[in-house]
Amino acid sequence: MGRVENKVALVTGGASGIGLASAQLLAQEGAKVVVADFNLEGAEKVAADIKAQGFEATAVFLNAGEEESIKEAVEFTVATYGQINVLYNNVGITNVRKDLDVVNIDLDEWDKVMDVNLKSVLLGARFAIPHMQKVGGGSIINTASMAAFASDSIRSAYGASKAGVAHLTKYIATQYGKDHIRCNAIAPGLIMTPAAKNNLPQAMLDIFTKYNALPYNGEAEDIGYAVVYLASDESKFMTGQTLQIEGGHYMA
Ligand code: NAD
Repeated sequence: MGRVENKVALVTGGASGIGLASAQLLAQEGAKVVVADFNLEGAEKVAADIKAQGFEATAVFLNAGEEESIKEAVEFTVATYGQINVLYNNVGITNVRKDLDVVNIDLDEWDKVMDVNLKSVLLGARFAIPHMQKVGGGSIINTASMAAFASDSIRSAYGASKAGVAHLTKYIATQYGKDHIRCNAIAPGLIMTPAAKNNLPQAMLDIFTKYNALPYNGEAEDIGYAVVYLASDESKFMTGQTLQIEGGHYMA
């Protein structure tokens, strides 16, 4: 019996990095997984790989910056597997261009980061909660970042969006606990995914390795195991929390 046997999980941004590892681990622990991503080809490959291992998954297109697309992904999940028990809001974008500082930031850029990182969490919850209420509960897992707690000095919109995610997590937990809907977030430290390797300057990667209490950076599975825990009934008394998984970097 898997730890999330018979649960249905929608994983956003599941074609790469943390989302991919989490989708695989959830499926291996018995969940039926919908892998949602705007890289549909990538999401389909992840779902096919999961199925090839004998577990259950399917893919759907998602643009997490678009309300209608988020709604469609939730409805697709329910239409495909009959319910949604776990919503893992994993999608997130960052940008390290110098003009992201307060004086120069392009407001379209600010809005895009806020839409994809923060508004998508609100909308995912908005569309999933009525379905979770119908089946007597559920687990919503959001994605913050250590940037929610400590400024890295170059990503104004990113940090603000992630701090918003941590707060919105508490709000959803407070409002829907009575319906047995739990809402928690994970704040990863540096996890060596394609996003981190491709977007962050080497100097920043080196700082993380140097100042982590543990002498290494994280792997996507380090977050995925926590996702399985938060998705499972093992965490049934836990809600409104933001779990910091960051190698002892900030210990905020
Ligand atoms: P990643 O880039 O490897 O994967 C992100 C996935 O999301 C990709 O498959 C991409 O196609 C998809 N995606 C991006 N924008 C989308 C959109 N608008 N609609 C649908 N899909 C979209 O990223 P990752 O490193 O695995 O990060 C996952 C989450 O973890 C993000 O929220 C990120 O902010 C957070 N995080 C990551 C780190 C890290 O060090 N990697 C640290 C802290 C927080």
